[in-house]
Amino acid sequence: MRKSIAVDMDQVLANFIDKAVAASNAHFGEQLSAYEIFRGEHSEEKRQQFWQIINEPDFFRDLALLDEDAYDVLKELNETYDIYIATAAMDVPGSFLAKYDWLREHFPFLNPQYFIFCGNKKVVNADYLIDDTVQQLRNFTGQGILFDQPSNQGDTEFPRVHGWKGVRDYFANVEAHVNVK
Ligand SMILES: [Mg+2]
Repeated sequence: MRKSIAVDMDQVLANFIDKAVAASNAHFGEQLSAYEIFRGEHSEEKRQQFWQIINEPDFFRDLALLDEDAYDVLKELNETYDIYIATAAMDVPGSFLAKYDWLREHFPFLNPQYFIFCGNKKVVNADYLIDDTVQQLRNFTGQGILFDQPSNQGDTEFPRVHGWKGVRDYFANVEAHVNVK
């Protein structure tokens, strides 16, 4: 049986942060960093307005690819593994259709029957999960792989990969280990 890899969307495939920061600063007339916006620089009222902007139906539709190598590496892995997309979309329920259409546009070779729109990734039953959020890797019951991002610096709980070339290297070594047995 083929092994399976679940892949997070935001800050693994899609560059959500850059658009979110630009949208927030444009809306509020500010020059805050991602860290300041997401780690509590805003009042509760501003936070709610911010999440309303992000929850607009089209917000996620035109996000840039985080890493141009994602296409080639996922296509290669798709030959050997079942690839699932696991996105914690319940935080932004307005994004469902845009996220689906974005995946179909950028990764047309992926099977949409394997797209999982979830909350807690504990329910994702795959062998591996590639995610930038440490808490989701803790929730997950398989092998977590931490996708390097500014927000997760310093964490050593999970193997860390740098970009999609790093993902390719990680799974090249996994296969090497399997062959040795
Ligand atoms: Mg993420």
